[in-house]
Amino acid sequence: MSGLKKQQNKEKFYKLYINTICGKKGNRKSQGEFVCPNGHKLNADYNASVNIAQRAI
Ligand SMILES: [Zn+2]
Repeated sequence: MSGLKKQQNKEKFYKLYINTICGKKGNRKSQGEFVCPNGHKLNADYNASVNIAQRAI
């Protein structure tokens, strides 16, 4: 059971790094800045919150 939960957490963590504009996996450059391979710059916390919101629907 704990193994499954761990996997879900990993997936959730991964989702935080998906760019909400283009769907590519990006990098969190600093505390508040998120940059994807296509050059989109987003607020990291905003990006994460959008990903979480989309997941909840
Ligand atoms: Zn992008």
